[in-house]
Amino acid sequence: MKPHKQIKDWGLGLNSPLIIAGPCSAESPEQIENICKGMLEENVIPSMFRVGIWKPRTRPGSFEGIGEEGLKWMEIVRHHLNIPVTTEVGNAGHVEIALKNKVDVLWIGARTTVNPFAVQEIAEALRGVDIPVMVKNPMNPDLDLWMGALERMHAVGIDKLAAIHRGFSDAYDKRFRNKPNWSMPIHLKRVWQGMEVINDPSHIVGKRDGILEISQRAMNFGLDGLMIETHHDPDNAWSDAKQQVTPRALKEILNSIDFKTPLEQQKPSERLNDLRRAVDHMDDQLLDILQERFAVIDQIGEHKRENHLTVFQSDRWKEVMESRTQKGIQKNLSEKFMKELLYCIHEESVKRQEKQLREAAPVKK
Ligand code: PEP
Ligand code: MN
Repeated sequence: MKPHKQIKDWGLGLNSPLIIAGPCSAESPEQIENICKGMLEENVIPSMFRVGIWKPRTRPGSFEGIGEEGLKWMEIVRHHLNIPVTTEVGNAGHVEIALKNKVDVLWIGARTTVNPFAVQEIAEALRGVDIPVMVKNPMNPDLDLWMGALERMHAVGIDKLAAIHRGFSDAYDKRFRNKPNWSMPIHLKRVWQGMEVINDPSHIVGKRDGILEISQRAMNFGLDGLMIETHHDPDNAWSDAKQQVTPRALKEILNSIDFKTPLEQQKPSERLNDLRRAVDHMDDQLLDILQERFAVIDQIGEHKRENHLTVFQSDRWKEVMESRTQKGIQKNLSEKFMKELLYCIHEESVKRQEKQLREAAPVKK
């Protein structure tokens, strides 16, 4: 994807880490006013106000959002807090209404990101419009779907882009409402340098306890902001009541977080440079060892070819896997890491040897 504009260049006076707060859903003008007043009283003014106007509900019958009327109440936010407002759009009709009502930033929800038809429909409605769009990760841990939605926006000319990490649904892991899978947002930042990812701890945790912990982890990993659902009376909220926090709790959370400085913004210290040089040197050694190891693997491959043996031998693989994993654990490496590393090395070995069998002249029996 071609370069896009980062949050600081959206022209809205925003910066990373970007703090977004506001209710899951707009309910009434009084509710919006109470939330804004609570934020003012606690002196916790987010950089941007979030509000759901159309709510994608898993089953019909729950509150499906107040609709266009709620967008009129955004004047209340502008009057009290004077900050930009963001809302979720799920189809072309929503886009049209949001633009008509001068919403500052749009976001695409997790249930929409999974559906390329819906994402494309939204993209077409935004062709030629200059508005920032944030794309939540899809419900399932599929990096391509997440990237695809960002690409569809970019392709119609939306160049003010950010991603939102709201976790992934997991039928088995009940610790979270949506499992964080931290490798996903980090991988997105790796493949698209400069792509900012805002963490949404509210939808990850699904309850109030734990929002601070997830927020802190997001900052530790170097994510670029937080979106925290905030309501003056969370217990009586019309949607996501369990996970919303009061403006006071929001302030406590934000005051407790140890915000880190992104390394890119700092000149690395001499100590960091020294340590990195040591790592560079060890990586060179690792590569030399790997080169030697694969040279031996090729000799084994040759032997197998000459003797008409199969490449894969399950008892040997089991023995290698178990003994190396145990050795790794003793060296303070995690079991998961050891297994992934060994699978990766073994797969490469098997592929090389099979290639030898395929490409070398057949050996007569
Ligand atoms: C929301 O932000 O209220 C929402 C519906 O989120 P998600 O799309 O992440 O489920
Ligand atoms: Mn919500």
